[in-house]
This record gives sequence, structure tokens and C-alpha cells, in this order.
Amino acid sequence: MKVMMSACLAGENCKYSGGNNLNERILRRFSEDEIICVCPEVLGGLPTPRVPSEIRDGKVVNREGKSVDREFRLGAQKVLEIAQREQPDLIVLMSRSPSCGVKERYDGTFTGKRVPGMGVTSQLLSEHGFRVVDAEDV
Ligand code: SF4
Repeated sequence: MKVMMSACLAGENCKYSGGNNLNERILRRFSEDEIICVCPEVLGGLPTPRVPSEIRDGKVVNREGKSVDREFRLGAQKVLEIAQREQPDLIVLMSRSPSCGVKERYDGTFTGKRVPGMGVTSQLLSEHGFRVVDAEDV
């Protein structure tokens, strides 16, 4: 099986903080499979570390109030192109990220409040028929 995955889940230090979200359980689960790691925010040209962002009224803004919507959508488009080329059987994405979240995201107030909804990349992948799964549900 071919599995596309949020790169931070595989231990890449691409998280906004400069760290990762290494998930040994997920790596063990797919240890026999081909893994393709992607980080849409890095692919969209954002630096690591970076100011954290959330989706507010359908647009992505960072905690300083600057729009990073263009970078997030560019990164999502690049991930979609990789998925269209590689045709993964499954895409596993990091929970609650404004790019990768599948079930929930933060509400745009930077107060830790969660709302139902997808990140920019997961939404685009899902709209194009790819099977996206939240890391929590693997
Ligand atoms: S954009 Fe996705 S892959 Fe990149 S650090 Fe955030 S959750 Fe991980």
C-alpha cells in the first residue's frame, strides 16, 4: 500500500515550533508500506519555525494578524499535485492543523477553541476524491 502522510507525524521537524509530531504508533502501523511525507506549509514557502496560523472566516491568518492564505493554498495545491502523481491509497494527516486537520481545527481566535472542519490541504485533497484520515483515527 502507498500512504501519504503529514511529514511531522513521521518525525520531520517541520512544525511551526520547529519540532515534530512523531507518532510511533502510526509508523509501526504502516511499517510495511511505502510512505510519502509532505508538509504543505513548507511546500507553500513558509519558514520553520513560523508564527502559528488559524483559519478565520475562510482565510488563513497568523497570530500576528498577517494573511498567509496564499502560502497555505499554494502548499495545498503542491500536495494535491504530488497526490495526483503518486496516487496514494490512503492519506494520514495531523489532527487540528489549519493545513492538515481532517475533523477539527481551531476557530481563528488563537484561544485554543476547536470547531468542526478541515484544514486547507485536507479539504482540497478530499474535494479531489482522495481518502484522508485524521491521525487520531488510524
Ligand atoms: S502543515 Fe501539516 S505536515 Fe506540516 S507541520 Fe503542519 S501538520 Fe505537520
